[in-house]
Amino acid sequence: MGLNRRNFLGRGIGAGLGIAALAAPMVAAQGRPRVIVVGGGAGGASVARHLAQDSDGAIDIILIEPTRSYYTCFFSNLYLGGLREMATLAHGYGRLAADYGINVVHDWVVGVDRDRLEVALAGGGRLGYDRLVLSPGIDFIDGALPGWSVAAQNRMPHAYKAGSQTELLRAQVDAMRPGGTFALVAPPNPYRCPPGPYERVSMIARRLRATNPTARILIVDPKDSFSKQALFEEGWQAHYPGMIERIGPDFGADRIELRPERMEIVIDGMVEAVDVCNAIPPMKAGRICDLAGVSEGYWAPVVPATMQARADPAIHVLGDAALQGDMPKSAFSANSQARVAAMAIRAALTGARAFPPRFTNTCWSLIDAEDGVKVGATYEATEDRIARVDGFVSQPGEPAALRRATYRESLDWYAAITRDMFG
Ligand code: FAD
Repeated sequence: MGLNRRNFLGRGIGAGLGIAALAAPMVAAQGRPRVIVVGGGAGGASVARHLAQDSDGAIDIILIEPTRSYYTCFFSNLYLGGLREMATLAHGYGRLAADYGINVVHDWVVGVDRDRLEVALAGGGRLGYDRLVLSPGIDFIDGALPGWSVAAQNRMPHAYKAGSQTELLRAQVDAMRPGGTFALVAPPNPYRCPPGPYERVSMIARRLRATNPTARILIVDPKDSFSKQALFEEGWQAHYPGMIERIGPDFGADRIELRPERMEIVIDGMVEAVDVCNAIPPMKAGRICDLAGVSEGYWAPVVPATMQARADPAIHVLGDAALQGDMPKSAFSANSQARVAAMAIRAALTGARAFPPRFTNTCWSLIDAEDGVKVGATYEATEDRIARVDGFVSQPGEPAALRRATYRESLDWYAAITRDMFG
């Protein structure tokens, strides 16, 4: 590859923040450097807004996202539980354009030319970048859940990308026959939002307790254990006694086949008829990471201190798609990583100062109305991984007032993170 202005800026500077200050005046002399952000979710919208806010017009920022309304997966389980309206989960990009000068393009990125530093859009155009940020979230691994494919997602919804799938799942639960069986097929590690499937079970139990109290909930789980297990199990016992049953790998839950046409789950050869099946398949980084050539296996390895792809220092990967170490795949994590990446990009492109990165995460879950629990940690960047420093988790047997306070905290967090993403 020849050394031209674009790949010099993108690759030379990206290789080490130490030379960023030297290179910055050259960038300014040739016009504003450009950052393209792919994906307007927790990682992408956050990095775009932070870059715009902190660089004071010095960087040209393009955010590419196909949908005009982003529905947060976070709090979508509360919609399933009847505690939130769908409209409260929807967020538009108008303020990012109007208040922050971000060029929001509603399109899919379908290719990345790393030599030319260009992305290709489904709509036909090509756009050049100095730095590219990929935060595409997750896709499902083709064929990894036997019998299931996206063609079957209306029969057996995943509801793991929020929006119409979430509405479909709630409609199916509401239409379930009295005393019917709701099954949730949980994914193997690693996956988006470790407590998500179990909060979902809690919220669906809450809904069924009111509308269909003799219904049964079956969790088919390929994992031996799961996030906040003791807290969920205690809560299920207290709020939904006798309603929820979990089958683990010891009973064949890691050897299943789905039959969407017949509404059956075959568990280690035994056929289980179900009325609603929430099938959450094994996950991988959003496909654009494969197309860009930054994935290794199912995820995209990154340099912890800057979130640069190991495969290409001109590309940063954030959020669920990144293989980074100890942080769970959550919106909180994606937002925390976005702040670190924004600082690194600004340092590289404008010579701004970069501070040692710190990462944090908290995952709240709701077990019943106002019965909130949480788990969280702080992290630091080491050479090879984002490493956990210390953490906390709610305890079984906590008083109702503390659980209510924990839930209220999560409402404040939702308001704060969506403001941080969308302005
Ligand atoms: P996303 O937020 O999914 O954003 C990806 C965006 O990229 C999408 O808008 C997509 O349209 C776009 N995109 C993809 N490919 C392309 C392309 N080729 N071109 C252009 N755009 C593209 N996290 C929490 O912190 N707290 C919670 O309480 C919580 N609860 C959850 C509950 C559920 C049920 C689920 C499913 C998830 C929950 N999460 C929670 C996890 C959280 O939603 C994700 O971890 C977070 O959204 C990841 O951010 P991201 O930027 O990686 O991906």
